[in-house]
Amino acid sequence: MNDSVSFPGGNWPEMRTGWVWLCGAGPGDPGLMTLHGLNALRQADVIVYDALVGDRLLEWAPQAEHIYAGKRGGKPSSKQRDISLRLVELARAGKRVLRLKGGDPFVFGRGGEEAQTLVQHGIPIRIIPGITAGVGGLAYAGIPVTHRDVNQSVTFVTGHDASGNTPCGLDWAAIGRGSEVIVIYMGIKHIAQITEAIIAGGRHPDEPVAVVRYATHETQEVLETTLSRAAADVEASGMGAPAIICVGRAVSLRQALDWQAMAAGEAPRSLDPLDRGRPAEVS
Ligand code: SAH
Repeated sequence: MNDSVSFPGGNWPEMRTGWVWLCGAGPGDPGLMTLHGLNALRQADVIVYDALVGDRLLEWAPQAEHIYAGKRGGKPSSKQRDISLRLVELARAGKRVLRLKGGDPFVFGRGGEEAQTLVQHGIPIRIIPGITAGVGGLAYAGIPVTHRDVNQSVTFVTGHDASGNTPCGLDWAAIGRGSEVIVIYMGIKHIAQITEAIIAGGRHPDEPVAVVRYATHETQEVLETTLSRAAADVEASGMGAPAIICVGRAVSLRQALDWQAMAAGEAPRSLDPLDRGRPAEVS
C-alpha cells in the first residue's frame, strides 16, 4: 500500500490479488478521477493504461508497474484481444491489476469487451466508472449537455465503427431529428460527412457546434462554429483527435459559462445566450 497520497478515511475496498479492476480515469485532469480510482491506484501491483490517461495519475502509483496499452484514433485494433489476454495473464500471475481507461470504461472504451473476456476466463472484476469526455469534457468548455431551455435528450454517438470508418449503419439524419443535442466521440476525421448528413436530415446549417480537443487537459482547445462551417473551420484550425464534437444550442451557453475564460479575467460574452429575454431561472 502506497501511503504517500493522503486519503479520506472510510471503508475502502481492498484490491485482492488475482483481481482486475477496470477503472475510468476521467478525461484528463487528474482531479476528475474518482476516489475509488485513487484507492485502486494506491493498491495496484500493475497498471495497464491507455493513451489518454494522464501521466500525473500514474505518478500517484509509484509502487506499481506501468504498462502502456494505448491505441490511437479509432484504428482497427488487432491488439484489443491481446490486451484482454494480458490482463488475464497478469491476474493469473497473482497481481492486483488496475486497467485504467480514459473517461468512463463503458463509454466507447471497449471496457465491456475486456470485462467479458475476463469473466469468460474466470477472473474476478470490479468496475469503477469515470467521468466521460462527452459530459465532463464539455463542462470544462462551459457547455452543459442538458439544459431545460434547450434539450430533453442528448445522444452520445461514435463517429467511428469497429473498422475505423464512419459507421454506415448510423442514420445521422434520424439522430439529428431525434435529439436536440448530439455529442460525437471520435468524429473529427469524418466531420464533413457527419455534419452534412445531419444538415441533410433537417437541422439548421447555422446551428452551433463546438469542437473540444484535449478537454480538461492543460492543452484544451475549443473551436466554436456551426454545422455548415464546422468541417472547413476544423481543417483551417488544424485540430485533430482527440476531440469531442457537440452539436446543438447547448453550445451557445458557453457564451455565458466559459468559466475558464472568466477565471482568466475575461467577461462573459453574453448573460442571455439563449435570447430568453428574462433571467435564467424564471420559467
Ligand atoms: N471512454 C472514453 C472515450 C474513449 S473513445 C470516455 O468515456 O471519454 C476516445 C474518444 O473519446 C476520442 O477520440 C475523443 O472523441 C473522446 N475523448 C476522450 N478524452 C477526450 C478529451 N480529453 N478531450 C476530447 N475528447 C476526448
